[in-house]
Amino acid sequence: MGYEITHVIDGQEVAGTGATQPIMNPATGGEVGTLHLGNAETVDRAVQVAARAQKEWQLESLAKRTQILYRMRQLVIDATDELAVAISREHGKTVADAKGEVARGLETLEFATSITQDLKGGFSQNVSTGVDAHTVRQPLGVVAGITPFNFPAMVPFWMHPVAIATGNAFILKPSERDPSASNIVARLYQEAGLPNGVFQVIHGGKTVVDALCEHEGISGVSFVGSTPIAKHVHQTASAAGKRVQALGGANNHAVVMPDANIEFAATQVASGAFGSAGERCMAVPVAVTVGEAHEPFLAAIKAEAEKLVVGPGDDPKTDMPPLITPDAKERVIRMTDEAEAAGATIVVDGRRLVVEGYENGNFVGPTVITDLAADHPTYTEEVFGPVLVVMHVNNFDEAIDLVNASPFGNGTAIFTDSGHYARRFEDEIQVGMIGINVPIPTPVGYYSFGGWKDSLFGEHHAHGPEGLNFYTRQKAVTVRWPAQNEAVEASMSFPTHD
Ligand code: NAD
Repeated sequence: MGYEITHVIDGQEVAGTGATQPIMNPATGGEVGTLHLGNAETVDRAVQVAARAQKEWQLESLAKRTQILYRMRQLVIDATDELAVAISREHGKTVADAKGEVARGLETLEFATSITQDLKGGFSQNVSTGVDAHTVRQPLGVVAGITPFNFPAMVPFWMHPVAIATGNAFILKPSERDPSASNIVARLYQEAGLPNGVFQVIHGGKTVVDALCEHEGISGVSFVGSTPIAKHVHQTASAAGKRVQALGGANNHAVVMPDANIEFAATQVASGAFGSAGERCMAVPVAVTVGEAHEPFLAAIKAEAEKLVVGPGDDPKTDMPPLITPDAKERVIRMTDEAEAAGATIVVDGRRLVVEGYENGNFVGPTVITDLAADHPTYTEEVFGPVLVVMHVNNFDEAIDLVNASPFGNGTAIFTDSGHYARRFEDEIQVGMIGINVPIPTPVGYYSFGGWKDSLFGEHHAHGPEGLNFYTRQKAVTVRWPAQNEAVEASMSFPTHD
């Protein structure tokens, strides 16, 4: 029923193995389309095509590669509305939020258009008498990207523009929940003039992911998703000899100091906690109030949460959209129930919210919880919903200890007027991305994105300079051109320089 989403292999829409699954609209709870699922055979077919295409693509001039990326940039800008509507329909997020993710994804494409600068190697003349040295960066070959549901455009954009610009062929395996954006991007690459096979899309779940991680024709795997799957992908693909970067889940804390502008902190934490119904890896599900900040912050965040309009993503009045699935909704309600049963105070309760006309949608309201023990799963685990847990500590040192005790280390923020505490926070916190009075410190496309600890497995962060390092291998070349009549004696000693 509705539309059909197929694989995109060698520039063609290809139905898969016969296996399909429904694509749902999270606001209505209704089926909107059908997704064709691949298997190991589909992956093998795409890898064979990619391997052939990559050989030629690697030989294309940097000028031609960047011209295609420039054209792609304009095509994506022109298609922003189409992408945003498709994302909103399948993910649930507001159309405005979806446009935001397209714009943030474009930052990496813009970074990739300057690959002419970044691929310059080093050169040293006369490292030894008559000997020069230089370095070149070459592509890995065929690489794969496996991406989560929560940013169906932006997260793949963290990967494919840099992979393609550096001469790789890229196979994308997007989330099964919101697959349409990836096929739109495949169409746009084709319109931009990218040769068939350099960007392909395979849909599916675990079977396809495992086939990508194990296929000997694939040299690198980029993954973004939950921590257990990130670990699985990191282990499986590493064992198969691939370069792997696997970004996992998060449980980001925002520390609110007593000297902070509390009203400002509350608006910022509200956007971090409840934007996109909390389904962001850089969401802020935990606020840590220090000393006297607690009571005024609690009052201010309660007021912010109660203001929010919950509704479908295609209604311009909506602040907060539905969750992705009925299971995600059930998890939020269950984890709130469990916190309450453990003696926590439910300051704002979103559990019983019903949106009129959307009774089958996956809606919950914003929820604020406090007085929760630091070992309770509703605090320690990633809820991935619009739930803010407010933890109270006595001083700055206790706040640092609490944040650093989390197994996750994706993002964190401090709200303060004190340069002293801000500087100490930046220095002492064990987290990859830090905001000073900024709740969602997602680095711009020409910096790199990545967490610490259980939020990232592998050496490389995503996009920006780290993306360039991930998708290329360096060669160091030492060159000597002896004169035709130059005579030297053979030496059995290890070469030193003269
Ligand atoms: P997920 O881990 O369920 O799925 C991610 C990808 O893995 C999807 O393509 C999915 O098809 C595939 N997958 C799912 N189960 C699998 C299995 N058993 N074996 C192999 N592959 C499997 O994640 P999600 O629910 O789509 O996304 C939400 C999660 O992603 C959250 O944990 C969030 O924090 C995380 N995330 C992290 C970042 C980051 O940058 N660190 C960014 C976005 C999302």
